[in-house]
Amino acid sequence: MHNAAFRAVGLDWVYLAFEVPEGGAAAAVAAVRALGVVGLSVTMPHKAAVTAALDRLTPVATALGAVNTVVNRPGGVLEGHNTDGAGFLDALRDDEGFEPAGRRCLVVGAGGAARAVVKALADAGAADVVVVNRTPSRASVAAALAGAVGRVGGIDEVAGADLIVNATPVGMAGVGESAEVRPLDRTATSAEAPGLPVDPADLGPGQLVVDLVYNPPVTALVAAARARGAAATGGLGMLSHQAAHAFRLWTGEDPPLAVMSAAAMAELTS
Ligand code: NAP
Repeated sequence: MHNAAFRAVGLDWVYLAFEVPEGGAAAAVAAVRALGVVGLSVTMPHKAAVTAALDRLTPVATALGAVNTVVNRPGGVLEGHNTDGAGFLDALRDDEGFEPAGRRCLVVGAGGAARAVVKALADAGAADVVVVNRTPSRASVAAALAGAVGRVGGIDEVAGADLIVNATPVGMAGVGESAEVRPLDRTATSAEAPGLPVDPADLGPGQLVVDLVYNPPVTALVAAARARGAAATGGLGMLSHQAAHAFRLWTGEDPPLAVMSAAAMAELTS
């Protein structure tokens, strides 16, 4: 995505991937300082650990305790951002035409992606942000990020939600084959589609389902939701929009979103 975007706007920049072992975030950040790298993306398992190695964090990154984008400001000041929530909201509004203000939202999962989404929905004025998670204690932590509109709920509340977000890896290519996958209780009993994060029988017209999983681009949940008459989309929109925010932070230029989305789609379908 980023290399395609650099080419599209005529920047002689390059985006490279480095595999950093767990516990190596501080050393990687030291290398960024030494080499004068303009910025970086941070992904699992370093999003939380990297915060301690940076000079300052945005309020959103501080609240989430996680960084996915680092900007090397003049003077070598390393600034940590989290663009996942903003990217999710952009995908909702720009791609799906869904305005979360005043709406009932339900998020399945309570990990890093779920927490970014929960906070973004609450900040955008959602009426209700219900968190459903396999491990209840993590659900409470995630729901707290939504303040007064956040609460822990059950999977039986899906039918009453305007927006349902899957923020678990259930449905991701390869995950279904893992013996460790243990779907939520009600899902395990769904005759229609065992192994989906929510029961499609609870979905229908008037609802929007967003599956944060982007590989495959159309997940089993997205297909099942559409078959039930709900609007549904995969995680490619959020992926592209969060990257577009990072691109703007690093370069100061308008991100060529269509180029970035096409590059991501080409990579996933190659
Ligand atoms: P994470 O921090 O590891 O959290 C995973 C969450 O999923 C946890 O709440 C976990 O529950 C739950 N979970 C895992 N396996 C489950 C299962 N079999 N049944 C029910 N719940 C299960 O992961 P993450 O970083 O938040 O990522 C979650 C998903 O979002 C991944 O598929 C990732 O690719 C995707 N994602 C997409 C974007 C995008 O831009 N589209 C951005 C970030 C992440 P417990 O708490 O009980 O363990």
